Amino acid sequence: MYQNVSDYIFYQAMQRPEALLAEDDKGQLSYRGAVERIDEFCRRLYKQGLRPGDRVGFVAGNAADLILLIIACGRIGLVSVPINYRLTAPEVGYIVDDAQCKLLFHDAEYGPLLEGCKLAKEQRVCFSDYPTSTAFDLWMAQAVDDSPIEVRGGGGDIFLQLYTSGTTGRPKGAQLTHQGFINNNFQVSLAHGCTSRAGDRLLMVAPNFHAVGLSGALWSLFYGAGLIIHREFHPASVCAAIAQHNISALIVVPVMLKMILEHPDSETTSFDSLALVLYGGSPMAPSLLEACAKRLGCKFAQGYGQTEATTGITVLSPESHQQALEGNTDLLSSCGKSVAATEIKIVDADGNTLSPGEIGEVRVKGPQVMAGYCNLPDATRDTVVDGWLCTGDVGYQDDNGYLFLKDRLKDVVISGGENIYPAEVEAVLMAHPGVVDVAVIGIEDDKWGEVPKAFVVSSEPPSEEELSRFAREKLAGFKVPKHYQFIDVLPRNASGKILKRTLREY
Ligand code: ATP
Repeated sequence: MYQNVSDYIFYQAMQRPEALLAEDDKGQLSYRGAVERIDEFCRRLYKQGLRPGDRVGFVAGNAADLILLIIACGRIGLVSVPINYRLTAPEVGYIVDDAQCKLLFHDAEYGPLLEGCKLAKEQRVCFSDYPTSTAFDLWMAQAVDDSPIEVRGGGGDIFLQLYTSGTTGRPKGAQLTHQGFINNNFQVSLAHGCTSRAGDRLLMVAPNFHAVGLSGALWSLFYGAGLIIHREFHPASVCAAIAQHNISALIVVPVMLKMILEHPDSETTSFDSLALVLYGGSPMAPSLLEACAKRLGCKFAQGYGQTEATTGITVLSPESHQQALEGNTDLLSSCGKSVAATEIKIVDADGNTLSPGEIGEVRVKGPQVMAGYCNLPDATRDTVVDGWLCTGDVGYQDDNGYLFLKDRLKDVVISGGENIYPAEVEAVLMAHPGVVDVAVIGIEDDKWGEVPKAFVVSSEPPSEEELSRFAREKLAGFKVPKHYQFIDVLPRNASGKILKRTLREY
């Protein structure tokens, strides 16, 4: 089969040249138009002196050109490094230096983020300095010969360098290969029955610098689907687009689903065209899933994965969702079974494999596991041991192979020798009518070593006694938070994950 990611898109262009590949706020592109543009990009990247293995950075909102440039880079062996534009300038600078980007494309508004970067002027291309709109046009206006593009790289060569979101420390550049990226697409599709077929429409709203957003978009092109691209996520625009474009598939994180559902426009939106919502990235409260099922009336699949595993490790299939909705609600707290050609084992602190039902760290072996972190041989050795990816997630598998995640290893609170999984405490407190959002961390305690502390967002804060009483009805005493702090909003990253690292500094 094809060894280079771009080949799948060129294959679809040969099959259905007139089909829509992408639409964004600048217009529409057919598959034929898109591959011609990809070739144009390849010529310019090559003319600029970029060669296989070189890194190309992106600090930009979702756009068709961004997607096509990433495909073009892959086609000639360059490695794309999409960077989170919500980071600070020093953080962006750190990533650009770490990856040693030779060229960087950015939106005008993110120009200030690049101030500290060691990049010459000609190494930065601004997509649009609207209204003057010159840099990218100038870049495209360079004279190049029109000789055919030679596909370079593929297989075990690096296609993407995605930085982990840094919820547990400094971002690390996970290097993902062409083969891993291709395999993971088929692995995930086999498990959920395909997000896309030719002619389908996928709405891209998740950010391009996270595995979920980028993989979901690129993968759908393997099947000849059309991408409707929103620069950023806005619930009202999602509602409008679903009806206007007959969107059939949506890839989101749970917070986005919650925002869509809570938006007044959702009440008048017809979601009839939606066939599948694929969500993942963080746990979803069963009550939210039930509400989504009622309102959206489509199939659901949940993915569990991480950047170091390209994207997908397990999938909770649409059939499992159906069973859950028909009464087997326990399944809703599972993230499903392993995707094809993927082994999962649960280990204790000494690395011994545990039996079904026993809680330990989740380890994963499969073709989607990253090639390693950029410039971090020690961290790579600690993270990929004998081909097994140490996910840092804690959970258990049941007798049927369903994986149930408890929390991040680093977030587990150990109080008087007992393990407390903050996710469990958070789920209980979230059910209190006065709680809008909540996060639990462990703080030092002279007697117990650590005790749980809850950060609570509430418009009408209940008393601490009331929250403790409520929690005690469902939780063992040692799990009930000993401290509470009411705050306006929880610090979250772009994919909606709570930044516990930041909370520890409060
Ligand atoms: P960092 O690795 O820097 O801490 P991060 O955790 O946000 O950043 P990602 O690769 O973006 O890195 O996220 C992967 C993590 O997200 C997983 O290890 C897991 O903890 C969590 N996660 C992903 N999918 C799910 C899911 N379906 N259910 C529960 N948790 C999930």
